[in-house]
Amino acid sequence: MAKCAICGKIRLVAANVSHAHNVSKKYQKPNLRKVSVKIDGQSKKIWVCAKCLKAGKVDEIYRK
Ligand SMILES: [Zn+2]
Repeated sequence: MAKCAICGKIRLVAANVSHAHNVSKKYQKPNLRKVSVKIDGQSKKIWVCAKCLKAGKVDEIYRK
């Protein structure tokens, strides 16, 4: 799920650093939205990141 269907953006591995400098892994996920698009004449729901949506890389059919 956590992948953009257009640009393939996936989660980043980052570090949580506490005040005592304990370091643990954390994941930074892309801002994904599920949108309906028309592919080969049929509507399909795909996960697209907000950046691709804003850049107009997908033709949305409708939005909730
Ligand atoms: Zn994207």
